[in-house]
Amino acid sequence: MDATSERAEKKKPDGEGVRPAAAIKRASLSRGRLPAEHYVQGILRGDRSALAQAITLIESSRAVDREIAEQVVEHCLGRSGNSIRLGITGVPGAGKSSLIEALGKHIILERDETVAVLAVDPTSRVSGGSILGDKTRMRFLATSERAFIRPSPTRCAQGGVAQHTREAMLLCEAAGYRNVLVETVGVGQSEVTVRDMVDFFLLVAIAGAGDELQGIKRGVMELVDAVVVNKADGDNVRAAERARIEVENALHFLPQSISGWAARALACSAYTGYRVADLWTCVLEHHAMTMSNDWLPRLRLEQNRSWMQATLEQGLMQLFRSNPVIQSHMVELEERVLAGQITAVRAGRELLSLYVSMNKVKGPE
Ligand code: GDP
Repeated sequence: MDATSERAEKKKPDGEGVRPAAAIKRASLSRGRLPAEHYVQGILRGDRSALAQAITLIESSRAVDREIAEQVVEHCLGRSGNSIRLGITGVPGAGKSSLIEALGKHIILERDETVAVLAVDPTSRVSGGSILGDKTRMRFLATSERAFIRPSPTRCAQGGVAQHTREAMLLCEAAGYRNVLVETVGVGQSEVTVRDMVDFFLLVAIAGAGDELQGIKRGVMELVDAVVVNKADGDNVRAAERARIEVENALHFLPQSISGWAARALACSAYTGYRVADLWTCVLEHHAMTMSNDWLPRLRLEQNRSWMQATLEQGLMQLFRSNPVIQSHMVELEERVLAGQITAVRAGRELLSLYVSMNKVKGPE
């Protein structure tokens, strides 16, 4: 059955006597969307196009799409959580996309498993591009039946992208993807955001012109479970090995993670495949260890809790900013702050008091 006849088929039972669920269904149909069950069934069958369409709904700013998306995510929740979630960060050019291709190939060809690749990209608003947009580095995965690649949405605030990526990850798991790789460039808060949604966090680094490491931000080392020095091939093998030792030494100075896992340093080549299998073994060892000491289930619960907090904060901000009275006062108060007529703190508090009085709720003391 094609999409149009399926839509017509689904419309019939609704006819008269509209129930609330049917109202949603009708609203979605009128906008060319299908009911939530359609996406859920497709996803549970492992249908990649249903999965892609459902993620598009997740990324949509239209209320009717979000409503369907939430139903889809809720229905899929019971079937999610069965994957290894790997976050990958590193400066542009470190070879993240190439390494994802190499890891994905290993997972599919050597381990006979499936892989989904997602991205969190807070820079897209600046660059106008989209991370993973260039699939030339992922030729194998782009054409493999056993892989699903989803570039990041380009029109959201960072928090929004992260929220969408979390939901997309759950849908990928429900669709049967055993491994989910989430890529991010190390900009702003994105590393912390991705760390907060994955089991294992990997930093891709490269050796510099000398043997010093390029582009490792202070603080990121504390978030990672492993650092891999990529491009250990050709003339660069020795420099990469020196860089790996340098990282290993730096990691020794960090306090051991409460998970009991000691972060590791590896060198590999996405080009030649050198040590890519070892890198994946490291991820699997981490998984086995943190499952056996019960840390991973606890981590995921904790991540869920902070996801709830983030959703709440984002939702409150949206409510606040979309209020027309607040909008007009915001402009006026911003001007007064810029003119030095009022302190930033007082202006912020005035807006809050105004919002509280409009909503007749108890405000901060
Ligand atoms: P990303 O920006 O971190 O995703 O990096 P890319 O995967 O796009 O790679 C950036 C550049 O490094 C490209 O020119 C790649 O061809 C090159 N590159 C990636 N991996 C390797 C590798 O293992 N060895 C070598 N020599 N070059 C690599």
